[in-house]
Amino acid sequence: MINFPGTLRSKLPRAGTTIFTIMSGLANEVGAINLSQGFPNFETSPELISLVNKYMKKGHNQYAPMAGIMSLREVISQKMEDTYGLKYDPETEITITAGGTQAIYTAISAVIHPDDEVIVFEPAYDCYAPAIEMSGGIPVYSQLKSPLYNIDWNEVKKLITPKTRMIMINSPHNPTGAVLNSNDLLQLEKITRNTDIIILSDEVYEHIIFDGIEHQSIAKYPKLAERSFIIFSFGKTYHTTGWKTGYCLAPANLMTEFRRVHQFNVFCVNTPIQYAVAEYMQNKDAYLELANFYQKKRDYFTSLLKQSKFKFTPASGSYFQLLNYSKITNEKDTDYAIRLTKEVGVASVPTSVFYHKPIDNKILRFCFAKTDETLEKAAEKLCIL
Ligand code: GLN
Repeated sequence: MINFPGTLRSKLPRAGTTIFTIMSGLANEVGAINLSQGFPNFETSPELISLVNKYMKKGHNQYAPMAGIMSLREVISQKMEDTYGLKYDPETEITITAGGTQAIYTAISAVIHPDDEVIVFEPAYDCYAPAIEMSGGIPVYSQLKSPLYNIDWNEVKKLITPKTRMIMINSPHNPTGAVLNSNDLLQLEKITRNTDIIILSDEVYEHIIFDGIEHQSIAKYPKLAERSFIIFSFGKTYHTTGWKTGYCLAPANLMTEFRRVHQFNVFCVNTPIQYAVAEYMQNKDAYLELANFYQKKRDYFTSLLKQSKFKFTPASGSYFQLLNYSKITNEKDTDYAIRLTKEVGVASVPTSVFYHKPIDNKILRFCFAKTDETLEKAAEKLCIL
């Protein structure tokens, strides 16, 4: 091993390795069933795979335009209009990204200056705070309220200062599976009216929402949409997390700033995948069937766990189910997640890592985007505890 001999000042001195890398690594090392990192373990559509192949063979193997290929931006625009009733201009308001995480990082980098405050709800997906800090911004935390993990809008109102530059929301929510309702969005509209606050709305699980609940996209609220970056992910929708493709929508002046950063950050995204997705998206069933597909998985997994000692409220959205293990042990969630992986053979994610000051509610997050067989094997192990 060699080391840089000079002085090194870390830009993220408190950041360890992301929990997803740690838990997936441990699961692989000990051969545990991996319900930790969120990704499907079933195949993506063969049709989509052959479309990628088709466009590679057709010679679409060089750089795409910086903002993404136009035909993909056009189908996204049409989909937004059909689904949420708001038209985004493919020319100026849509950019294809290397997944949701890059889109979030780029949006924050584009508009957050040193000392700007960003309101973040906890538990929060782990890339939010580091992205804010890399721009010199200050995350200001509001806790989602148990047991349903809802937002306390009075608390949010009190957190707003002249320095508040952004509010980040995420629905369906990772890691809790909670969803925002129309009243939440109306409250957000009220508190941001006549301010310079920008909203970043992480909607990567837009189609994974259950029990007939309608996804409340920011795009359904024009007064919010005019101040928002909205982030989506093809990985979640088409079972292709490894392709790292997603997109960002924003009004033209926000998108201009986004692209200023994007062009020097990734420049552009994988070309043949963009062509393939543009064609595949014409078939709406692929995303319209997703809610039903994952609701069956959630119901199957939770029905298998009825005999277990875990306590839970079924997730309303996303492909994550929280399980409370306080009837089994009093161990710290980080310790228990490791022991469960090594000794029982099921990997999960401890939820305390989603707080800036770890809050241990004895809750683990399990990903149910898995084959029925995998869910059965995991549940069998979890039921003997
Ligand atoms: N979004 C995925 C999860 O929550 C992980 C993505 C990643 O590993 N960075 O598990």
